[in-house]
Amino acid sequence: MYRIDIMTLFDETVGDMMSESILGRAQERDLLRIEAHQIRDYTRNKQRQVDDYPYGGGSGAVMQADPLYHCWQHITDTYGPGHTIYLSPCGRTFKEADARRLRDDYTHLILVCGHYEGVDERFIEGYVDEELSLGDFVLTGGEIPAMAVADAVCRLIPGVLSDPSCFEEESHWNGLLEYPQYSRPEEWQGRSVPAILLSGHHANVAKWRRKQAILRTRERRPDLYAKLDLSTKADQKLLRELAEETGE
Ligand code: SAM
Repeated sequence: MYRIDIMTLFDETVGDMMSESILGRAQERDLLRIEAHQIRDYTRNKQRQVDDYPYGGGSGAVMQADPLYHCWQHITDTYGPGHTIYLSPCGRTFKEADARRLRDDYTHLILVCGHYEGVDERFIEGYVDEELSLGDFVLTGGEIPAMAVADAVCRLIPGVLSDPSCFEEESHWNGLLEYPQYSRPEEWQGRSVPAILLSGHHANVAKWRRKQAILRTRERRPDLYAKLDLSTKADQKLLRELAEETGE
């Protein structure tokens, strides 16, 4: 069973969020287990204080290494060693490929949520295997990034979604953004569903979707488009059609 332990100051909120919907049902079916741990439970002072002033001065507070270490040690003593990730704006940006790697290479993740000015570097040096960022912005805490990473990894675990096609056709799996999606009714506020999607012709629908995915990626994410391999005969034909349609 895949296991994720999340070290946080908001264990109830994180625990509740991770028990909802698809991930909740996956846990009921013993496909995975996500547990949130309150870092304050591992302090050795009456006030359950987890932070202190930064050496060298400056504003704010820093999360102390000791409570983090004891929380981490409790998790590894109880559930065995885990690949430990500190969510941090200084980390490498998390991508779908990381979600796949974390699913494939590990069965136990420990996610560390920072707060205030961050975490004492000595805990990171001693116990963190990698640092991941959600993007080039700063949040107040690591909970949202930790839940994002946990969610992205867990939905790839076999059995969590009804069918692998649920994620294998989605944005970022193969470097493409997904094609546009439509549902009932066929006409809404004067806008119609593209006729091809109502045709029942599966091959043509697949072709249309691939073409839309290529077009969307080219328009919205030239960085991803530049990395695509579109050298197959079928893709070359789609590109020619696209050039004719767009007049390029
Ligand atoms: N002083 C830190 C810096 O400038 O890099 C920012 C600390 S931030 C206010 C507090 C915590 O939020 C961090 O320790 C981290 O766990 C989390 N956090 C903030 N932004 C994040 C991001 N983009 N990705 C991942 N975690 C983030």
